[in-house]
Amino acid sequence: ERVYGVSQWGGGYFQIGENGNVHITPVPEDPSIRIDFNSVIEDIRKEGVQFPVVVRFHDILRSQVAGLNKAFRKSITEAEYQGEYQGVYPVKVNQMREVVEEIVDAGKPYNYGLEAGSKAELLTVLAMNTNEESLTILNGYKDDEVMRLALLGRKLGRKVVVVVEKFTELLLLVKVAKELDIDPIIGVRSKMTVKGRGKWESSGGERAKFGLTITEIINAARYLEEQGMAHCLKLLHFHIGSQLTDIRAVKEAVTEGARIYADLHKMGFALDYVDVGGGLGIDYDGSNSTNESSRNYSMQEYVADVVYGMKEMCDLEGVPHPHLVSESGRAITAHHSCVITEIVGEIKSNAADMDTSAKEGEHFFLKNIRELAETFDEQENMHEVYNDASQYKEQALDAFKLRVIPLEELAKIETLYWQIMGRLQTWYRKEEYVPEELQELDYSLSSQYLCNFSVFQSAADTWAIDQLLPVVPLTRMNEEPTVNCSLVDITCDSDGKIDQFTIGREITDVLPMHPLKRDEPYYVGLFLTGAYQDVMGDMHNLFGRLNEVHIYSYDDDPEDFYIEEVVKGSSVEDVLNVMQYNPRAMASDVKRLIDRHVWDGKLNPREGVRWTDFYEKCLSGYTYLKQ
Ligand code: PLP
Repeated sequence: ERVYGVSQWGGGYFQIGENGNVHITPVPEDPSIRIDFNSVIEDIRKEGVQFPVVVRFHDILRSQVAGLNKAFRKSITEAEYQGEYQGVYPVKVNQMREVVEEIVDAGKPYNYGLEAGSKAELLTVLAMNTNEESLTILNGYKDDEVMRLALLGRKLGRKVVVVVEKFTELLLLVKVAKELDIDPIIGVRSKMTVKGRGKWESSGGERAKFGLTITEIINAARYLEEQGMAHCLKLLHFHIGSQLTDIRAVKEAVTEGARIYADLHKMGFALDYVDVGGGLGIDYDGSNSTNESSRNYSMQEYVADVVYGMKEMCDLEGVPHPHLVSESGRAITAHHSCVITEIVGEIKSNAADMDTSAKEGEHFFLKNIRELAETFDEQENMHEVYNDASQYKEQALDAFKLRVIPLEELAKIETLYWQIMGRLQTWYRKEEYVPEELQELDYSLSSQYLCNFSVFQSAADTWAIDQLLPVVPLTRMNEEPTVNCSLVDITCDSDGKIDQFTIGREITDVLPMHPLKRDEPYYVGLFLTGAYQDVMGDMHNLFGRLNEVHIYSYDDDPEDFYIEEVVKGSSVEDVLNVMQYNPRAMASDVKRLIDRHVWDGKLNPREGVRWTDFYEKCLSGYTYLKQ
C-alpha cells in the first residue's frame, strides 16, 4: 500500500488483500462482495483466453452510474433545489456496446441518458437510448444528415437536444426542422471565458474550438424568436475541459453559466436545462491534489458545487432553478477496466557479466578502471570515483572506434564500469546527501520489465499526453518489492514505455516490483483504463485490440464472480485486413513458395505441409506474444 497507494486512487474499488493479492470490491456500499484478482486470472487461464487481457468489472460501471446520480439527488435534496438532475453519458469516452448497454441499464431508475458527438455516435445512441424520459444530447459539428437524424429522434418521441456549436448550425437546423415540420429541442453551447486547469484547458476561453460567444447566443435566441421558434430553445451548455484538476474552475464555470442562464431568462427566453458538460476528474495518482493526473475534490464536492452554485445565482437573480445536466464520462468509466499484462522479461544494463581478470598486453584504460574497481572504498570521494569511471568508459569507447582497443577489452571495461556503479548505488542509498549525477544512477541501474502489450494500443494517453495510470502487481503484495524498474512494451518503438509513477505523493521514474521467478508468471495490472484509452488506442506495429473478459459478481456468493462474456481481440488477419491486405492471398503466396521449395527438393513434403499450416495458424492467431 505504501508503494502502490491502491486505496488512494482506487475509489473504494480496489484493496490489497491479506493474501497479498489485489482484491476488488465492486459495490462500495457492500464490502462483503470481494473478488480476488488472482481468481480472475485463474479463470481467464481456464477459459483459454490469451494475455494481455482487458478485464471489465460491470458492477463497477453500475456503481459509478448510481453513485453520480445519488450524489446529485443528495445535494438537490439538501439544497432544496427545485430542478432535477438528468445526466447523460458521453459515449465517446468508451463506445464499447457492452459498456454503453450497462450504463443505460444502470441509469434507468434515474432517467440517465446518452450524449453523442458525431454522426456515428448519434446513430448509436438513437438505437441505444430507448427511454423516452431521458435526454439524448447531440454535441459536435453537424451536417444536414445529422440534423435529420436528430429530428427523427424527435419524431420517435425522444428528448433529443441539438446543441448548437456554431451559428450557421442554427440556420441549418431551423431550415431542416421547418421542412420536416418537427419541433426541435435546441441547446446553445457557450464559449466560456473561464478556463479549466489541466491538460484540457483549451476547451474553454475565447479561442475554444466549440461554442457561441455571448453576442452569438443573444443573436441565436433573437433569430429563433423571429422564426417563431423561441419555445424550442431549452438548454444552455458549457464544457470547460476534461479532468478539471481544481474545484475552483468548476465553481467559476457554474457561476458564469448560471449568470448567462438567468439573464436569458430575464430577456424572455425561459430555458429548462443547464448542462455543465464533463470535467469531473479522476485521482489517477492518488494525491488528491491539483496535479495534472489528479483533482482536489470528490464526486460529492463537485456535485454540491454545481447544485449550490446554480441555486445561489438563480435565487439572487429571481429566476427558477433549471434542471441540471452533466456529461461526465471519465468519472463513469475510468475505474471499471484494467489491462492485465504478463511480464515476459527483464532488461538491465548491468546484467551481463564476464571474466575481467588481467591479461598481458591489455590497454591501460582497462588497467586503470580495474584498479579503480579493486581499490576504491567508502572513505573516498564517491563523486570522484563516479567521474573517473565514467571518463574511462567514454575514453574506451572512443579508443574502440579509433581501432585502438578490441571489442573484448571494451566489454571488460563496460562490465567493470557497471560493477563500480552498482557499488556506488549501494553506498549512497545509506547517505543523506547525494549529488544529482549519482541520483540519476538509480534510473540507469534500474531494470526494464518487458510487458506483453502495446502502450499505443492500451495506454495511449501515457504516451501522448503523459497521463499517469496506476501500475500494480496483482499478486505477491505481501513480499517486499526489491527491483526498481520501468515498464517497456513489445512494440519496436522506444516510446513504448511507462516510466512515470507515483509513490506516496512523489512522481518517480521507476517503480519497485518483485523479482521475476523462472516458473511463476508475474501479472501486472494497468488500472483506470476504462475512459478514453480503449478508443484512443492505435495499431502501431500491428498489435490489435486486446482480448476482453466481462466480469459480474454473484448475488448469492459475495466472493464469487463469473465471466459473462469473452470478446476476442484482433487476430493477425483482422489487423492485416484493416491495412488492406488479403490474408488468404498471402497464405496462398507463401504456400506456393513452400511448394516450390518442395519441388526443388529443398524441403521434404511433410515439412512443407507443417510450415504451411503453421503460417496459417499464426495468421488466425492473436497479435501478442504467446506465453
Ligand atoms: N462533454 C463534452 C462536450 C466533451 O467534450 C467531453 C470531453 O472532453 C465530455 C463531455 C466528457 O468529459 P469527461 O470525460 O471529462 O467527463
